[in-house]
Amino acid sequence: MKTNSFYIFLMRSVKFLFLVLMDFLSDSSDEEKENLKDILFTPDGKGVFEMLKSPYICFRCGRALSDDFGFCTDCLSRPVFFSLTYARHITAYGKKQRQFINQWKFKRNRIFAVSAAEKMFHAYKENFKDLAVVPVPPRKERLISAGFDCVNDMAFILKWCFRLKVLTPLIRIDSEEQKYKSFAGRTDKSRKRYALKKNSKIRQQTVVLIDDIMTTGGTLEECAALLKSAGVKEVYALTLFYA
Ligand SMILES: [Zn+2]
Repeated sequence: MKTNSFYIFLMRSVKFLFLVLMDFLSDSSDEEKENLKDILFTPDGKGVFEMLKSPYICFRCGRALSDDFGFCTDCLSRPVFFSLTYARHITAYGKKQRQFINQWKFKRNRIFAVSAAEKMFHAYKENFKDLAVVPVPPRKERLISAGFDCVNDMAFILKWCFRLKVLTPLIRIDSEEQKYKSFAGRTDKSRKRYALKKNSKIRQQTVVLIDDIMTTGGTLEECAALLKSAGVKEVYALTLFYA
């Protein structure tokens, strides 16, 4: 796989252009601008993507462990992952990461996708090799209200700047459709939130699901189960943060 300083250069240029434009167009305070600049240009995104101190992680869910236990107690006593082989993350979701997500998702600083995708690509290279990437699809309402989706944006950059193979076999089932189900149906853990597109050619592949944050792992597992039912050989996951 080629990764190409050219694309890295392109990223830097995009960020730089963004900053120049922002100076002209934006009404954010100088402090906010400084903060954005730090996140975009420091190697670890001003601590947002700082790796955890502990070298040990749970083999299955990827959360940090205090010692070389192999698996965390959650994965041993009440496992979430059956279809998903394992998940990996850049770092834990703390205060800095929350601010980052806030700025990105809700204040709509779409440029953050560039930093996130860069970090994601490095994590991908450390953990996987030549596997196709499958973004977890967003809610339709969210897409309409925000006008974009963080994970989609990341996937776009991974595809066009880092040359990863991106597949989109999944769709999100709208909560509209769930409205008509019984209350029990909606709270039931087995409720379906995702579905497969028709004619998605993913049989016999091994793929990496990507998402911004893993909380319980339920979303990743649901997507992995769907993909496996469509004949995918093995499913891994990579997220920016885990809660
Ligand atoms: Zn675990």
